Amino acid sequence: MGRKLKSIWVFHLNTGACNGCDIEILDVLTPYYDAERLGVKLVGSPRHADALLVTGPLTRQTYYAAKKAYEAMPPSPRIVIAVGTCACSGGIFYDSFSVHGGIDKLLPVHIYIPGCPPRPEEILFGIAQLVGLVNKKVKQVVQRASPELKTEPLERLWLDLREETRRVVGYFDRDEVLNTFKELVLKAYTRYDPRRSLEKLVDEYCSQTDDPRLCFVMKYLYTRFLDILEWYKKSHYNIEDMLREEAWRRAT
Ligand code: SF4
Repeated sequence: MGRKLKSIWVFHLNTGACNGCDIEILDVLTPYYDAERLGVKLVGSPRHADALLVTGPLTRQTYYAAKKAYEAMPPSPRIVIAVGTCACSGGIFYDSFSVHGGIDKLLPVHIYIPGCPPRPEEILFGIAQLVGLVNKKVKQVVQRASPELKTEPLERLWLDLREETRRVVGYFDRDEVLNTFKELVLKAYTRYDPRRSLEKLVDEYCSQTDDPRLCFVMKYLYTRFLDILEWYKKSHYNIEDMLREEAWRRAT
């Protein structure tokens, strides 16, 4: 978006929601939350809209209707707001035969407001960020296992990765996912050019799993792993030699 918005006219588009998110949007528009004080106005046609407020997973049934609605909007600013986990990623319906995924499978999304459903305050906060009324409250803070901890560097590396896994995976699957990633790492470190091998192993893993969430986590862990290696390098630990040793010890 090139310009800062003073007000925003929105068109509400349901691409297959269970209506949970729609009810929260209605709530936002009631005098209690009074979205109009932020300049948010609901319009009856995409032709008058600055933004599409999309709820629900993108179903096959609504794919072309959503495309048409987007194309009917004025060419600028053409904002897309994904409201609810379903619109962000497909949510619980992500692998349904009739669902493509989130709305970003079709349209470029400017802001994601996750939640099942998101609370009216969260929807308002998302829109307020979009129109430049508030700044993001959440900043990424990277925590590393402290070098003062009396643990081996390799053990600290696994602890750091465990922390990274915690950010993106639910409690029950966390250890399983992390152990799978560790196996891939150790396998890669028995090979020539382990970083490249690990990338290939992660790609192979993704082509074999039918759950896109697991693929996402593996790719996420791969990029975090590279960051952590760099961090160790700067702290003068030769962690890659240690990984190689550990990998060969396990393999033999
Ligand atoms: S995110 Fe939850 S409430 Fe919203 S459409 Fe999906 S299932 Fe319904």
